[in-house]
Amino acid sequence: TRVVCLVRRPVGEPLPTDFAVEERPLPPLGEGQLLVRNLYMSVDPSMRGRLESTEKHYTHNFTPGAPLDGRALGVVEESRCAAVPPGTYVRHQLGWRERAVLDAADTDGAGRIDPGLAPLPTWLGLLGQTGFTAYVGLTRIVELRPGDTVFVSAAAGAVGTAAGQFARLLGAERVLGTAGGPDKCALLVKEFGYDAAADYRAEPVRDALARLAPDGIDVYFDNVGGEQLAAALHALRTGGRVALCGMMSQFGGDRLSGQRSADINQLIQAVLKRLTLRGFIVRDHDDLRPEFERRVAGWLAEGRITARETVVDGLENAAGALLSLLGGGNIGKMLVRLDDS
Ligand code: NDP
Repeated sequence: TRVVCLVRRPVGEPLPTDFAVEERPLPPLGEGQLLVRNLYMSVDPSMRGRLESTEKHYTHNFTPGAPLDGRALGVVEESRCAAVPPGTYVRHQLGWRERAVLDAADTDGAGRIDPGLAPLPTWLGLLGQTGFTAYVGLTRIVELRPGDTVFVSAAAGAVGTAAGQFARLLGAERVLGTAGGPDKCALLVKEFGYDAAADYRAEPVRDALARLAPDGIDVYFDNVGGEQLAAALHALRTGGRVALCGMMSQFGGDRLSGQRSADINQLIQAVLKRLTLRGFIVRDHDDLRPEFERRVAGWLAEGRITARETVVDGLENAAGALLSLLGGGNIGKMLVRLDDS
């Protein structure tokens, strides 16, 4: 089968030549296993850290010469597990390749992924891990309350477009977002439940928050860290809550350069205002998944939320999709679609 391999670890910013599409044999199908043809593959910011050798992660790092992996949705072509017959749609962790042999026990969604309920891409986005991340962050990590003013960074991305819409449906009074560029900011207000949005490249976020939320914010859903986290710490009201979800602005380079240590010094705000900052990894919260799927599928069916994906075609363009995501080339969930082969 064709796979995307890491050729070498990037030196500085990753380049297309750090990746290559190669042919690899598939192992024979064992008892309890499935042969899955991948239809959609998830492109995730966390892959950036996994390209490095030094980064400590909650999952393994990639190895030069070996295939990448990641979340994917595929259809079972052959099965040696009676409970998961051919034709079943499953999600699993062996993306970045056309076909995969995997244990049926390592799949998720068998029998639940219904293209009649929501299109297949949505099952990797709004109804998948990124939608779930937004849901966990809002409901469990910051325990969103009706009346809250909520600020979300990377608001036009997969987690951000979900978080804005969920916050609104969960009773937030005001939802604010930041994104790169005026077009994304306009879309946030038009389509994704935001009351107002600011372009973090055009204006210091501290100024934008002072303008958009002069009375302060109650909740910050942090996807980027750095300057935006520092700005949010200033805007938070006493007793405010922060969900530390990711740090898009902190990839690569010297992590304790002058600007970054200045941002960290803003943590005195957390002391002064008795803030709660809580980091989380979504996979620790799987107990919430049935509730999440039921509620979000309901909102989708009622037409109360919008699922948005940016879809790139072909395995040979998958590495480019990752580089594009890191540079903000996506609106909503970034996916790679594999053709029928
Ligand atoms: P997105 O779809 O949000 O894509 C990443 C976005 O980050 C880009 O579109 C870009 O948008 C923005 N970005 C890139 N560089 C910067 C920068 N320097 N400053 C500000 N924004 C930047 O990705 P996901 O929705 O998949 O992930 C969002 C966040 O959630 C990530 O930090 C990810 O690591 C985290 N995450 C955490 C999980 C957890 O369990 N804790 C699970 C899943 C995701 P723009 O054009 O606006 O710059």
